[in-house]
Order: sequence, then C-alpha cells, then structure tokens
Amino acid sequence: MGRREHFSSFLARSLREPPPGLSVPASFGQLSSRFDAYDQLSASQRQALVAQCRQQLHQWRQQQRPVVPLAPPRLRLAAATFAASGLAAGPLQLETPLGEVRGVGPKTAAQLAQLGLFVVRDLLHYYPRDYLDYANLVRISGLEPGRTATIVATVRRSHAFSSPRNPQLAIHELQLADVTGRLRVSRFFAGRRFTTPGWLKLQQRQFPPGATVAVSGLVKEGAYGPQFQDPLIEVLESPQAPVRSKEIGRLIPVYGLTEGLGADRLRQVMEAVLPLVPRSAEPLPEALRQREGLLERATALLRIHQPRSQEELQASRQRLVFDEFLLMQLGLLQRRRELRQRPAPSLNPDGAPLLDRFLELLPFGFTAAQQRVLAEIRADLARPQPMARLVQGDVGSGKTVVAIAALLLAFDSGCQGALMAPTEVLADQHYATLCRWLPQLHVSCALLTGSTPMRRRRQLLADLANGQLQLLVGTHALLEDPVQFARLGLVVVDEQHRFGVRQRDRLLHKGLQPHLLTMTATPIPRTLALSVHGDLDVSQIDELPPGRTPIRTQLLSAGERSKAYALIRQEVVAGQRAYVVLPLVEESETSDLRSAVEVHQQLSGEVFADLQVGLLHGRMASADKQAAIAAFAAGQTQVLVSTTVVEVGVDVPEASVMVVEHAERFGLAQLHQLRGRVGRGAAASHCLLIHEGRNPQSRQRLDVLVRSSDGFEIAEMDLRLRGPGQVLGTRQSGLPDLALASLCDDGAVLERARLVAEEILSADPQLQRHPELARLQQQQRQLVSAAVRLN
Ligand code: ADP
Ligand code: MG
Repeated sequence: MGRREHFSSFLARSLREPPPGLSVPASFGQLSSRFDAYDQLSASQRQALVAQCRQQLHQWRQQQRPVVPLAPPRLRLAAATFAASGLAAGPLQLETPLGEVRGVGPKTAAQLAQLGLFVVRDLLHYYPRDYLDYANLVRISGLEPGRTATIVATVRRSHAFSSPRNPQLAIHELQLADVTGRLRVSRFFAGRRFTTPGWLKLQQRQFPPGATVAVSGLVKEGAYGPQFQDPLIEVLESPQAPVRSKEIGRLIPVYGLTEGLGADRLRQVMEAVLPLVPRSAEPLPEALRQREGLLERATALLRIHQPRSQEELQASRQRLVFDEFLLMQLGLLQRRRELRQRPAPSLNPDGAPLLDRFLELLPFGFTAAQQRVLAEIRADLARPQPMARLVQGDVGSGKTVVAIAALLLAFDSGCQGALMAPTEVLADQHYATLCRWLPQLHVSCALLTGSTPMRRRRQLLADLANGQLQLLVGTHALLEDPVQFARLGLVVVDEQHRFGVRQRDRLLHKGLQPHLLTMTATPIPRTLALSVHGDLDVSQIDELPPGRTPIRTQLLSAGERSKAYALIRQEVVAGQRAYVVLPLVEESETSDLRSAVEVHQQLSGEVFADLQVGLLHGRMASADKQAAIAAFAAGQTQVLVSTTVVEVGVDVPEASVMVVEHAERFGLAQLHQLRGRVGRGAAASHCLLIHEGRNPQSRQRLDVLVRSSDGFEIAEMDLRLRGPGQVLGTRQSGLPDLALASLCDDGAVLERARLVAEEILSADPQLQRHPELARLQQQQRQLVSAAVRLN
C-alpha cells in the first residue's frame, strides 16, 4: 500500500479507527496522534515511536489470543544413561578410593579431594546443589521468562548470515512454530571460520524447514516476548524419535565445582559410580516406609543425581531429608533417654521456706506464665532423674526471677546451685540481681569469672567444695575450671543458644549429674529448637509482666540521624536515658571499636557536649565495663555509646531510647534482643534503627521489626533470611550437619521424622532390630567426630 499512502498516515488512521468488531486500548489513540506528526520527528524519535508501537501491538495481540489449555508437547528421552555405561559394579566398593574408579585419573581424583570427596561413598552423597530444569516441557505460548524450559517445534525458516556490524560473527536465525505460536531463536557463532559461505549454508541446511526440533534453555524476556538465551537445539529424526542429547528434556544436576573440575567432567564421574548405589541397604522397616509414603533410600540416592522428573526429584529429596532428620532425632532422643536414666538428687523439700520468703519479698506477683513454668520446673526437680529443660521467653518476660525461684528450691533441699552466663557482663548483671535478694534470704552467693583474683578464686573453690557456698555465678568458664561442688543440685544456663550439646556434655563428663535449666531470650523457631535442643523439654513464658508499654520502633535513613539525636535530647530532658549501639563485626572488634570510640567522641564533644556520655565496648577491662554500666544505671551518664555487649542482660529501667547505627548489619533476632534493653520501665520507649544499606531488601527486612514485637515471628523471619548458622550464633552451637535438609523449608518433614524416631526408639531403644539404621548412625557419628578433629 506504500504507493497510495505514507505508512505513518496509514498507522495513524488504523490506530484511530480499528476494523469493526475490534476493541483496542485507549493508548492507541495517543499513538495515533503521534503518527499524525510523524514528519516533524527526528530519525531517532521516529525509530523510538515505531518500536513503541510494535511493542504495544504485540502486547495487545498477546492479550487477544484465546487461552487454550494445551497439554505439553511429548518428547521421548533415550533410556537412562548409566544402565548402558556397561560399568559393572564388580570390583568397586563404597570404600574404593575414587582414583581407582575406571575413568577417574589421579588428576581428577586430586580435584575431587579438594571437594572433600575421597571414596565412592563420598561422591554418592555429594548431592547436586541445584538443577537445570529442562524437563519443563511447554508450548511456545507457555514460555515464562526466568525459567528453563524445553519446547518441541517445527522449523518454519532457517537463515544464517554474517553480522552486518561484525564480520567475525555469524548469526543463525530460526523461525519456529508450534500450535500455540511462533518463536524466533537466534544462535551466535564468533570466529572467522563460522562466517564462510560454506559454513553458513551448512547451518541453514541442518535445520531445514519442516524439521522437528527440541530446544532447551533459559527463557529471557525479549523485546517482543519470551526468548531463549543460548539454547541447546537438536533436530529430531522424526517427531516421535527420541532425543539423543543427554541434556535436552532432562533435569540436569548442577554440582558445586572446584578449580579445574568442570561440570561435564563431574557428571561423567558421577555416572561411573552411580551403579554402586547399594541396592539392599534400606534402613526403614518396609511397613513404616510405605506408611510414610517414602521412596526407597537406594532409589532416592540414585534419583537425586538423575531425576527423570520434578516429581521424582522431590520424592527423592524428601526421602533423603527425612533420613537426615531421622538420624538427628534418633541421636537426640537417645541422649535424652540416657540422661533420664542417670540418678539425680530429688529436689523436693517438704516445705520451701526460702522460695516462699522470696515470693513475699518480690514487689510483684508472678504472671500466670511464670507460675506455670515454675510448676513445670518444680515437678521435674522432684523426680530422681535429672531435669533437662529449656525455658524460652521473650526479652523482659521475667525468666531470671523464675530461675532464682528454681535455685531456691535447690537450696531448700540442701543442695548447691550454679548460674552460668555467656559473657562476663551478663554474669555480673545476674550477680547484681541476685545480690538484691539472696543476702536477705541468708543464701551465700559468689561470682567467679576470668577476672576474679587468684586468692579469691582459691577461697571460692574451697568453700564450694566444702559446701559452704550455696550459689556460684559465672561464665561458661566454670566448665573449664577445676570446679568441684560438694552437692550440686541445679545448674542454670542463661542464653541457651550459645550453650550447645558439647558444653552440656562437658558438664556431664565432669561427673556432674545435676538438674539442668536453660534459658533463652532469643526465641528460636521450632525447627531449630527441635534440632539443637531436641533432647530438652521446653517451657514457654509467653506473657509479659503487666504495665509494659510497647516499644515504638522506627526506621531512619542515615540522613535523618538528627531526628534520633533530637529524640534522645527530649527524653534525657524528661529524665530518661538512651543507648546508642554500634555494630560489632565478628572477630574483628578493632574496626568497630574505632567507630564506637569515634561516635563517643563526636557525641560527647559536639552533639551532647552538655550531657554526660558513657562508652562501653568489649575491649574494655572488666572493671571499666562495670563502671560504665554502673554510671549509666545510676544516671551519672545519660547516654551510653556501646557495642553489642549491651545485648544481653543489661537492665536499666530508665533507659527509654535505643538508637542502633548500621542496623542493616545486625540480625533481626539480635536487634529484637537489643531493643529489649529499653521499655523495661513504665515510660513509653523508642527504638530507632538507622540503616545505611542501599539495598531495598535490607530495608524491607528491618520493616519486620517495625511491624512486629513477637520474638518468635522475628526469629522465624531471621532464620529464613540468614540461615540457621547465623541465627544460632556460633559454630559450636551444636547444629547438626545437614547436607540436604533445610531448617527453613523442611519443618514438616522434621516433625514427621521426630515422631518416627520416637516410635522406633520406644520399641527398640538400642536399634538392635534396625541394624541398617544403627549402621548409618554409626557412620554419621564417625563423620562428625572426624570433622571435630579437623576443627
Ligand atoms: P528476661 O530475663 O526474661 O529478659 P528479667 O527476668 O530480666 O527478664 O525481667 C525483666 C524485668 O521485669 C526485671 O526488672 C524483673 O524484675 C521484672 N519482672 C519479672 N517478672 C515480673 C512480674 N511478674 N511482674 C512485674 N515485673 C516483673
Ligand atoms: Mg534475662
């Protein structure tokens, strides 16, 4: 029509007056008027307008297209590769060094060793870290950007040419179609030899119009809809013929690699050892396996490496995850049984004069939750088996007084007690709290930390051994010391999440079998609790003492810092106090030490020159820390610049503002914990989180704290965002090694595994009738102890 009319006026008219029966979007009207003025536009403006018009037309057309639910195309895959590999399981054993496997030379073996893979068994348990899902068979209209997919389509056009801009680049363009639509696939070949006419012709001819092709790859959003990026393409001999490629149409495992060891090579080696998956070794009784709807372990081990479909992959993963959790729970529950069988002093006095007197002395009554938890503890203590109980409660829920009550029961029964805290600051705090009550009750109590002078220490240890000293307060260093009690009845451990299985073992190995009460103010998600504390009973203080005003939390950007300072001033004028907290990066105290010192200088010298500003950080001597806290508690300083040493235990009711700098560098649970340092008195309190992260996600993450004051919700979120290792804090947290299982996503499997573990152990505590399970457990224990030795 070009001769009759300019294309631009044709477009302007058509967009304005579409053919009858078609309803077009209002935006076409605007396009139309811009085409009216086409001859006044510059070349680049014209280009932009045409591109925009095409895009809008394309989008509109996509919307017009009726949605036909079409089944995915069919694609036949060649039979599983390993079966045909002809490698008989013969001389190879699970313990065979990888270097002796046919096809694995010393060089590859050395590379595998870098990944910690030494024998065949190691490789079998080296699970893919991800999969390329080329088994996702779709029609062209169903291609989704961001996903991998495979289509089966017919070639409509095949055109190869050298790039007009770059003579070294060959481009092969394929026009493909299936019943749902068309798709252009471009392949690029860089290099002079690809741009020869002969080569270009050959490409064109290899994909003749009418041929059926299978295409696998990652789908990206192109200018005119989804497109494959760098796909794998194979021409099928006939539409029904199986695809020869080992990748097209399949789920491709993606393994963690190391230098020099490529993905293909690792898959090759894996294929060589897969026939060795032990067929007979099924640890679960058949009936139980069926009831739980689990795949056989051998099948799962094989299919995790060579899944034929997503369903098969999920089922395999589920089985292996289940086994990991099952072994973990068996171990924990066995420990618990063992613990329960040891004798412990029964702390069941006829009367409890000390406890009664304490409850009278307290200026407040216990909350219902505190009463309930104390009753649970009391029932445990009365038994002649050692208690192993974890008390979880949000910051400020009043765990400490409950712990004191439990200790008093021990004294009432003529036993001694110990109270352990993770840091000296916290131990000091506890000691100070105890000194408020215990002298009035005529209970003898002492503090033992790293900074206790030698003479005093000797005296303490002597008093402890002869039974004169009733309560010893200290850090976990108590475990290292040659501390001997005359009659230890109860150990209270604060901040349980830093006191792992190993430390608990150490206590037991000292020949002590006291009751154990542990407390944590960082509520941990149930999956973590089951994993790390699966051998403990759990009590919950799920109620705050009355009269607390909720803390108002606000997010500020670095530019709004002056608002924070204004609020501090306002509160201080009203007689309150404020914390300014700076991050402490693990193990590199020096870098943040400076910033804490810097901020202290700036605040005391400039911003709050008229106020007293204190400083507290981990590098200070114990006495200086004490003095800084005491000055703040007494109101001699009104602002305390601190690192996270204030995180636990510091209890100053007049503190009503907390400003956290670089909030993006803290974990959510940790911030929640920090925030618990304010809002301890009656005044309305504020927490201001200053974040300097550029990344919007880090802001979103912090928003959780603004919205929620529920420690469990926050901890759950933290686990999701940062993973269990970070949430628990240290490497010694006793977290089991899980290769596949995720404590975030596999909670439901964990719950099942725990029930099954209980079921199995109640019928067969020593696993004598479950030899394969016992063997796996043994094997895992060896692995763990090997890892510990390496550490
Ligand atoms: P946690 O250790 O759980 O963070 P604490 O035991 O330190 O909490 O208690 C926080 C504050 O609340 C303390 O000052 C404590 O004396 C006070 N407190 C504890 N229980 C009650 C209660 N039932 N009613 C009022 N105040 C309480
Ligand atoms: Mg506490």
